[in-house]
Amino acid sequence: MNPYRTHTAGELRAKNAGEQTRLAGWVHRRRDHGGLVFIDLRDRWGIIQVTFDPERAELFTAAEKLRPEWSISVEGEVALRPEGNENPELTTGEVEVQATELRVLNESATPPFEIDREREVDELLRLKYRYLDLRRERMRKNILFRHQVVKHMRDFLDERGFVEIETPLLTASTPEGARDYLVPARLYPGQFYALPQSPQQFKQLLMVAGFERYFQIARALRDEDQRGDRQPEHTQLDLEMSYTTQDEVLDLIEGLYTEIVEDFSGKKLVSKPFPRLTYAEAMDRFGSDKPDLRFGLELKDVSEIARSSEFKVFRGAVESGGSVRGIAVGGLGDLSRRETDELTKIATDAGAKGLAHFRIEVDGLTGPVAKFFSEEEQTSLRTSLGAEPGDWLFFVADRNPVVFESLNRLRLHFRDRLGLAGEGVLALCWVTDFPLFEWNEDEKRIEPMHHMFTMPCEEDLEKLDTDPLSVIGQLYDLVANGTELASGSIRIHRPDLQQKVFSIVGIDKEEAERRFGAMLTAFRYGAPPHGGIAPGIDRLIMVLQDEPNIREVMAFPKTQAARDEMMDAPGPVSEVQLKELNIALRRAPGSDKGSNPATHPSEGNN
Ligand code: ASP
Repeated sequence: MNPYRTHTAGELRAKNAGEQTRLAGWVHRRRDHGGLVFIDLRDRWGIIQVTFDPERAELFTAAEKLRPEWSISVEGEVALRPEGNENPELTTGEVEVQATELRVLNESATPPFEIDREREVDELLRLKYRYLDLRRERMRKNILFRHQVVKHMRDFLDERGFVEIETPLLTASTPEGARDYLVPARLYPGQFYALPQSPQQFKQLLMVAGFERYFQIARALRDEDQRGDRQPEHTQLDLEMSYTTQDEVLDLIEGLYTEIVEDFSGKKLVSKPFPRLTYAEAMDRFGSDKPDLRFGLELKDVSEIARSSEFKVFRGAVESGGSVRGIAVGGLGDLSRRETDELTKIATDAGAKGLAHFRIEVDGLTGPVAKFFSEEEQTSLRTSLGAEPGDWLFFVADRNPVVFESLNRLRLHFRDRLGLAGEGVLALCWVTDFPLFEWNEDEKRIEPMHHMFTMPCEEDLEKLDTDPLSVIGQLYDLVANGTELASGSIRIHRPDLQQKVFSIVGIDKEEAERRFGAMLTAFRYGAPPHGGIAPGIDRLIMVLQDEPNIREVMAFPKTQAARDEMMDAPGPVSEVQLKELNIALRRAPGSDKGSNPATHPSEGNN
């Protein structure tokens, strides 16, 4: 028999009254009340009240000494609580345990923050004492929820013939657009392993190996600048299939995600099936390839009206190949000058030169530049945006990328300001048909939109030689409420085509052979057509649990500054270790503050 417990703290109910029980866990709270000592005993499964009666004097005195977070084991009888004393907030709230024995397993120092209350606690402190933070309800729930979801993923895929296969952590670089984490190889002085930015090459090689359907709950390590939803290491559901099509991959993940949302979260899906938008359509309607479909405020193109207008700013933008687009916003009421200045700043921060704004009155438009538009043009602007009297119209005239980005930011601003996104709903959608490449203006070169293993659309193959930037790739993203949850693609499986894509992104034959030799060789052995996807698990859990960042859904995340506060990493290593690794530091540790780490050309951007 287990010496610590016969039951868990979450399972006892009225039907157990009269039974003997032994429980183990932490002192959640202690109250001395009406001559009795009450303990809320907490374990992973729940909380139950334990009472200590002064009639058992020795036990009572011991109970009086208990403090929060002491680890104890108690024995006693389950009893119905006296009428009126039930606690409907606890699943065990109808009963209590009347203690007959108490064992203190371990005392606890006073915790640096309260475990039993959800109060704001400094995040660094939480991360330093993460093992205590994880005892708190919010974190416990998130981690257990995450387990449920991941288990469901495994079961779902297993039922459909997928095999889980581990791929190495110590390997050669697999670029996904970030810097590699490198590990010095002791046995090969001057040489390094790279930690995988994703298992991309391995999963493709597993298709060449004939496993047909692979998945892995995989860690991906990327040394990139930190943001709210990024971490040096994150977990993805990495997945690959042979002899497949884009639709098949999308349907599979859509089925899985529909079940996860509906069976495990209290959220409602806005639309089923998930809408599928091409990249061009997403940009055109929402100014973003991660559109938040929980609300409207769609962008409208008024370039044709602008082209013939007197207003030089509008006309000029269209004449130089850009566009003029706008959104109509209702429910704003009067806007002060300060408010329109704030809105203008949102647009200019995104690169726009300005923001033209109008108010719709019954008999036309008002606003600083309204006088440049004829009555007829005013009517066309208004009807193009489907606006009503009282609405405001906002227009940006510029190069398309600037127009899209500034209106996207404004759209999201109004979403938050006007509370347009419904609570508890999830708008999942697919964005497909991305360009295969994009132009990196800073480095003046072409780079892959996703990664360099993506298959171009069949129809565009010829354009690879003539106009690569216009080639559409067979690649797709899953987006939820404006957050990207997954990226994937159909892959190249022929060595000649792979070689060509490498050369377009500036990797010559020799370099390709050195960096991706295994792939190129493997493709010569009858590699099957294949494709896959890699949904991020941390982000999914974050969205489903309404958490503001992924640190809240990871057991042991790094800080925003990429440090492990609890383990105090990274840290210096001994001279002996460095010597073994054949490494000499260029500067003493800590002396390089403010230095500029060499930048690494990026090779994709997901
Ligand atoms: N390897 C890609 C990533 O990590 C996903 C994929 O294409 O399957 O984003």
